[in-house]
Amino acid sequence: MKKYMKTTLGRKLTAFYLILFLISFYFMQTLGYQYIYEMVVSETQENLHSAGTALLDMHIYQQAYTEESILTLRTHFNMASETAQCRIIIISHTGKVLMDTSEPNSTYNIYQGNASFLQKSYVQNFTMNGYLKEPSLCVTIQLEKNPYLNGYLVLSKKNSFIQVRADYYFNILATLFYLIMSTLAVAFICLYIFNFRPLKKLRNGAKDFSIAHDNPPIIIKSNDEYGELAQTLNIIGAELSKFEEYQRKFISNISHDFRSPLTNIRGYVQAMADGIVKPEEQEKYWNIILSETDRLTTMTTKLLDANRFDRDNIFLNISDFDIQEAIRNTADALQGSADKKHIVFELMPAREKPLMVKGDPDKIQQVLYNLMENAIKFSHENSSIIVGTRTRNDKVFVFVKDTGIGIPKEELSRIFDRFYKTDMSRGKDKLGTGLGLSISKEIMDAHKQTIDVVSTVGVGSEFVFTLLRA
Ligand code: ADP
Repeated sequence: MKKYMKTTLGRKLTAFYLILFLISFYFMQTLGYQYIYEMVVSETQENLHSAGTALLDMHIYQQAYTEESILTLRTHFNMASETAQCRIIIISHTGKVLMDTSEPNSTYNIYQGNASFLQKSYVQNFTMNGYLKEPSLCVTIQLEKNPYLNGYLVLSKKNSFIQVRADYYFNILATLFYLIMSTLAVAFICLYIFNFRPLKKLRNGAKDFSIAHDNPPIIIKSNDEYGELAQTLNIIGAELSKFEEYQRKFISNISHDFRSPLTNIRGYVQAMADGIVKPEEQEKYWNIILSETDRLTTMTTKLLDANRFDRDNIFLNISDFDIQEAIRNTADALQGSADKKHIVFELMPAREKPLMVKGDPDKIQQVLYNLMENAIKFSHENSSIIVGTRTRNDKVFVFVKDTGIGIPKEELSRIFDRFYKTDMSRGKDKLGTGLGLSISKEIMDAHKQTIDVVSTVGVGSEFVFTLLRA
């Protein structure tokens, strides 16, 4: 199997830096150098031109010099040549070199070659038809205002001089470049240390969580976004492991809860098929089978309900309805189960005065049914359950109070979780799926109302939910 090199952010950053370095280095060496060289040429040309113009204005145009008398200006020319660090040459219109600050006795005639350069204001990299030993930058100014001296003033600077100057500027540029690149490298390293290390920790932690949810927490001590992210991941991890625990519990509960009615049904059906059951007892067995299938149906319906609420948000059909009437209806529906345990419902207030509330009547009836059914399930025989309402301002508090087994303090916070059944209740209630209260909570949340419980083990429980008055 082919193994590909993993692209980590560190590698990407290094590659990015190297590419950036190489590209900038290439451009600095080519375009950068060219730009600096041209800048030095144009600066030199300007300097030479102003030095030449100054010479003309201050000396050559001051008197009517001839080709011979111009030599009296040699001292000025030499001084100007030293100041401007250039060679100054005067050429007559016939091409004869009249004066040259570097060759005092020159008799060269540059018309031996092509003298068209004299028509141009400046020429680069030029030897004046072999007159100059080294290629130079030459600036030419025509002598116009002197009737006796017709010719050209040429100021030249050697290429090597320009080169040295360009190199000087280029070195400054290169130093700046290396300085910027080193700063960038340091910045990238800091970026790596401050970002990728915690990122790596987070990645590894998240990977571990994806494999097993009860891993040790990710530890990032900083207070920045990474620290926050690590904390969030730890919370998610803890929630996941809690959820896994619930699921494990649920599956074991649910399989236990489904298995017992199925075993019963199978036993009775088998007995009847084998003819062991006397004909006069058959009806009793049929009824048991029927009640066991009812148990299975109830469990399945609750599971489906929970699943439906999970998938779609609860859709409420809000209207005004009488909560007292809803309580009475629920009590009537549960009268049969209550009677079996000789439990009585005490409704409060007892008088039949309507109390109108806002909500989805069917869903609220479902909540009442869940609470009152639980109260029956977890109450002792011959006890009573108080169901009623209290009003405060625009709120109605509906309560269901029993004197049953109660709920241990440490489990109170979890009974509204899905599939949760207290250890105490398990023996008493084989039918339960641990979904009734979580469904009730979801319904009350959808109404933007609350549902709460106060309970003491061995004394009883009181569930209270709120509604808005109509
Ligand atoms: P179920 O559908 O199994 O009754 P619920 O979600 O309604 O599940 O209740 C969850 C658990 O809360 C029950 O299994 C029981 O342990 C506890 N519980 C609920 N109501 C009461 C109550 N009135 N008295 C004691 N325990 C209760």
